[in-house]
Amino acid sequence: MKCVAFDEKQVEVSKIVCVGRNYVDHIAELNNEIPAEPVIFIKPNSAISHNLLLHPVDQVHYESEITFLIMKGTIAGVGLGLDLTKREVQDRLKSKGLPWERAKSFDNSAVFSKFIPVAFDLSTLRLELFIDGVLAQQGGYELMMYKPDVLVAEISRFLSFEDGDLLMTGTPKGVGPLAAGSVLTGRLFSDDSLLIECRWPVEAS
Ligand code: ZN
Repeated sequence: MKCVAFDEKQVEVSKIVCVGRNYVDHIAELNNEIPAEPVIFIKPNSAISHNLLLHPVDQVHYESEITFLIMKGTIAGVGLGLDLTKREVQDRLKSKGLPWERAKSFDNSAVFSKFIPVAFDLSTLRLELFIDGVLAQQGGYELMMYKPDVLVAEISRFLSFEDGDLLMTGTPKGVGPLAAGSVLTGRLFSDDSLLIECRWPVEAS
């Protein structure tokens, strides 16, 4: 089983629960409808990677997301995640009303920073993603339609979080394709204090 680093220890992850369409500005950029309830999908343990790898065949888009680590059914840690997506495959599946696993759950499609204990008000959280030093995405708690505590409660109505499971809370606008040779830098802030910075060079797989 693959692990993530939480508070300097390795923690096994049984699944990654992901939220789609949680930022209004991102919904608009993909011409999606605003959902009446959270859009939920799962990435398996096998999707976890700590490196950012190009896919050998399909074009892959980055989505940077504030990601929580769950212990005892509640939010215990926070980190940065990249929900990698085969956008053309997803568009084809969506148009036919088919499940998204081929576009979302492939190997190395969930890339994570380390996780740190949550010791601050969740409402102060925000992220920035830079590509080759240029700001590509920014957003956080204030722009989320469904806030983290609401997501945990809603998701827990139909599935159980195991200790170490991850919750990816959706992406703000600015998604785009990964390009060989570029470097992504993610930053997680509580208000203006930097909590985590993670540098991901795009590597050939
Ligand atoms: Zn996403």
